[in-house]
Amino acid sequence: MPSTEDPVPADTVPAMRAFAHDVYTYPLPEGHRFPLAKYRMVREAAGTLPRLDVRDADAAGWDDLGRTHSDDWLERVATGRLERREELALGLPWSRALVERARRATGATILAARAALDDGVAANLGGGTHHAFADVGRGFCVFNDVVTALRVTRAEGRVRRVLVVDVDVHQGDGTHALLAADADSFTLSVNGFRNYPFRRVPGDVDVDLPDGTGDDRYLEELERVLAPAVRRARPELCFVLAGADPFAGDRLGRLALSKDGLTARDTLIRDTLAAVGVPVCLTLAGGYAEDIRDTVDINVSTLRVFTNVSPRVDRGDHA
Ligand SMILES: [Zn+2]
Repeated sequence: MPSTEDPVPADTVPAMRAFAHDVYTYPLPEGHRFPLAKYRMVREAAGTLPRLDVRDADAAGWDDLGRTHSDDWLERVATGRLERREELALGLPWSRALVERARRATGATILAARAALDDGVAANLGGGTHHAFADVGRGFCVFNDVVTALRVTRAEGRVRRVLVVDVDVHQGDGTHALLAADADSFTLSVNGFRNYPFRRVPGDVDVDLPDGTGDDRYLEELERVLAPAVRRARPELCFVLAGADPFAGDRLGRLALSKDGLTARDTLIRDTLAAVGVPVCLTLAGGYAEDIRDTVDINVSTLRVFTNVSPRVDRGDHA
């Protein structure tokens, strides 16, 4: 298992910029399974990490959201005219505050993508809303943040070829659908086989793992596919969806990874991308641990791993 020690002395690495959207909260019914409190807790815990510079995100503009979503979906989200079945599929009750929050969550990924291109790595302290399609949101995802950020940075002329590494336990069906015809993007997704979404949208490389997959098997499978995906994608920017939900204590995940296993996962991704010098835009995606503090621990560990990306000039020997 890769070392979880800080590999780089603190004073040699600049702070990683991280964008938060936790203060834009919205009403949920009592006992709802979406862990809204997690975002504030992650922000508070992230504030204690060295080398992390946390800022509030701006809202994504409607014109930027229009790069990903249909006018019809945006109009109906903005005005609260979702059909009952759509609200059920989304899994969150519509409110004006929900819309503002979803815009901030997407804005955070846009800002993190730009910061990653400037600095080599940056994060959204949330995001990873990969179940949102062009014309509908699902599975707690109103807008697709990664596809929007990809298209915004591309429109700015900053990137063309993009890799999405999605290690949230759920398949990124919306992202796959949105990028299906995009020859300059490549998706790698490592999922729990018996998990939502039950109707899959194929990505470029999908790995489906059985219930109870533990650390060793998971890391072997990831290692087998990751470097080849990077070689095929030849990315100028990589979006990472580092879901905490493969964790053994997750209510939805089913894959039975330990916290050390998840840290090893993040370290493997960090080192594989750093070896070829590709900038990383990190999102935290899902996490539904029985005890919310476990999800927070895992998210903070992920942030700690990625704040230890050494400057790209030091990575030339691996390229
Ligand atoms: Zn998930």
